[in-house]
Amino acid sequence: MNVAMNWPFLRIFGIQEVASVVFSICHGALHLYFWLKFRSKVPSEAPMYIVWQAYSLICINAWVWSTVFHTRDFIWTERMDYFCATSLVLASLLTHCIRVVGWHGGTFHVGITCLCIGVLSTLFFIHVWYLAFIKFDYGYNMKVNVAIGAVNTVWIVLWGIQNIRNQPYVWKAIVTVLGTSLLLLLELGDFAPVGWIFDAHSIWHGATVPLVCFWYSYIMDDTLYMYELMFKFKKTV
Ligand SMILES: [Zn+2]
Repeated sequence: MNVAMNWPFLRIFGIQEVASVVFSICHGALHLYFWLKFRSKVPSEAPMYIVWQAYSLICINAWVWSTVFHTRDFIWTERMDYFCATSLVLASLLTHCIRVVGWHGGTFHVGITCLCIGVLSTLFFIHVWYLAFIKFDYGYNMKVNVAIGAVNTVWIVLWGIQNIRNQPYVWKAIVTVLGTSLLLLLELGDFAPVGWIFDAHSIWHGATVPLVCFWYSYIMDDTLYMYELMFKFKKTV
């Protein structure tokens, strides 16, 4: 998403916002890299195996549309970037919902997991429907995304603090969500692009690239932790 679109940018090869395009490609490539790494490192029977792969594909899709939008700003490319950005933010919240609420005693509670997926998917489609067919409101869209991100951040930090003793790797998740929230403040900076290339939005895209590595490191550690726990529960039953 982009809230400061009024500055002129230096075009290179017809690309409107070069820095945002390069950083969006970096994000997409990292998600692709870690998706493959996850598949090679985590056994397919592990809990969350399918969930995290679906998450990676949603992220890759979102960064493809971010790349397209920053390359050429048309109404339809902007809409796709915004909608897919929301899908990414909601997917992050959904994965944590499934992880924390849906998983109990070494297995998933099917009813609760389906309820989480149903509620958040419905919210996503209502949001997109409203923006696409009723009113495209930039402020409202931004508030919705920030609110979902804030709920996710607070939940992960509190859950992380609660569980860090048994799962020391959760610091990576805490760093990712707190880092993302702090760097979001960069979005508020509405200054002329540095060298007519690096504006506040592109710097936000660039600064969040390293956090993808912390996030996937957490995802792999946590899935392997759940996998081990699954066997412990099986043995005690
Ligand atoms: Zn963007």
